[in-house]
Amino acid sequence: MKSVHQPTRECISCGEKFPKAELLRIVKNDSGIFLDTTGKQNGRGAYICKNPECAEKLVKQKRLNRAFKTAIDESVYRELLEMLHDGRTE
Ligand SMILES: [Zn+2]
Repeated sequence: MKSVHQPTRECISCGEKFPKAELLRIVKNDSGIFLDTTGKQNGRGAYICKNPECAEKLVKQKRLNRAFKTAIDESVYRELLEMLHDGRTE
């Protein structure tokens, strides 16, 4: 048991729980679906960890379709994958 208390979220690819700060947030709102680099965008959010395999799995298994309960275009996934690659090179 860890005594450190901080909010955790589940990675939608691997299902592991991580502190929010270690995850990337993908948000869906009226402007579309994109990587929320500020963490402050309004809309429905889904979290993914920074493991490259999780980014691949997200796209291959179309994990966001379930997370956002909607059919998401292939091109959106490709864009997200690019953003996720960028997001990891901090
Ligand atoms: Zn993961």
